[in-house]
Amino acid sequence: MADHRDRMGAADTLDHCPLMPTYGPPSVQFVRGSGTELWDRDGKRYLDFLSGLAVTSLGHSHPTVAAALAEQANTLLHVSNLFGTEPGVEVALTLDRLIGGGGQVFFCNSGAEANEAAIKLARRFGGRGRHVVVSAFASFHGRTLATLHATGQPEKHEVFQPLPEGFRHVPFMEADSLEAALDDTVAAVLLEPIQGEGGVNMATTEYFTAVREMCSERGILLMLDEVQTGLGRTGRWFGFQHYGIEPDVVTMAKALGNGVPIGACWARRDVAAAFRPGDHATTFGGQPLAASAARAVLRVMESMDAPATAVVRGDELAARVETLPHVVGVRGAGLLLAAALDGEIAGAAASQALDAGLVVNAVRPNALRFAPPLTVSTDEIEEAVAILRPILEGM
Ligand code: PLP
Repeated sequence: MADHRDRMGAADTLDHCPLMPTYGPPSVQFVRGSGTELWDRDGKRYLDFLSGLAVTSLGHSHPTVAAALAEQANTLLHVSNLFGTEPGVEVALTLDRLIGGGGQVFFCNSGAEANEAAIKLARRFGGRGRHVVVSAFASFHGRTLATLHATGQPEKHEVFQPLPEGFRHVPFMEADSLEAALDDTVAAVLLEPIQGEGGVNMATTEYFTAVREMCSERGILLMLDEVQTGLGRTGRWFGFQHYGIEPDVVTMAKALGNGVPIGACWARRDVAAAFRPGDHATTFGGQPLAASAARAVLRVMESMDAPATAVVRGDELAARVETLPHVVGVRGAGLLLAAALDGEIAGAAASQALDAGLVVNAVRPNALRFAPPLTVSTDEIEEAVAILRPILEGM
């Protein structure tokens, strides 16, 4: 047992690790979590201001989600999507209501799969000859071959060429460049309302209003990737609601299961109608266990008013982070924030923070990302900032 733990946890034994080297050597092995807190195998406590990358929005081991999982595990774990089950229907109805109504939902297991579904739907809706998806540079949409090509980071494409055909990239927040890319072959525009992995890059109402107009004029779908921004994190149920626009397709995942893998692709009903039985499927999508987690998550989020909570705690966090040395600005919304730093010190700061018991990440060499649970307390925010201050002072 000790040998197994060493192999899984220690960086210097990576050669013997049973996992493929798609991630760097793990620096910490976590064994337990509760709310904003995590503990490693040595019993050391950490504050989690990353939430598994915007996943555990209700904190670790949320009792309502845990109870729903236990009950569902003892009731019905899985049947095929050839048959109906209960929890997914409530989740789909709730998501449709929170998005604005008039749509239908396809369930899957991850953000990449939600975007893959959206891309296939766009091709089905557009018809032959109208298949191109235009997305933005610095975007992130997933790691499957199609979503990798949609991801506007050409340096990630090279080693996997040839990638599926039909993707085009334009600079984020440049309406003219986007317009120039919209020819008769374009089926959809795919954008994050706030770019997450690209550095927590905000957009403006003017930009998204212009994008909405140019898509509507040309019969092109506006598809919004809310995998990171969705479900209250930015202070609205969905990031697009900051801009007052109506999307045709919305994808989400991360926070929907609070750690249980589930993703969803919502589309306007007339768009969703382009899919026919047999066009798209996944064995586990919307299965009872994952859907029961999502049902519990949405019930808790609605009862606590997750978006309003994210605004209040986000304002507290941003105000305190702004006072830290080397911080030249805070960008983002709600509890999806990045501290812009005056040098490329984010990696070193994140690593020293981890040693000191705080989980944050360097989303850019000069930017630290904060995405704590929406249930984070004011005391925990103060504690996190107090951990970071001496670290940044020493840089
Ligand atoms: N889209 C966005 C905006 C993301 O941030 C991510 C993951 O970080 C994805 C898609 C891919 O999600 P997954 O890793 O669940 O496939």
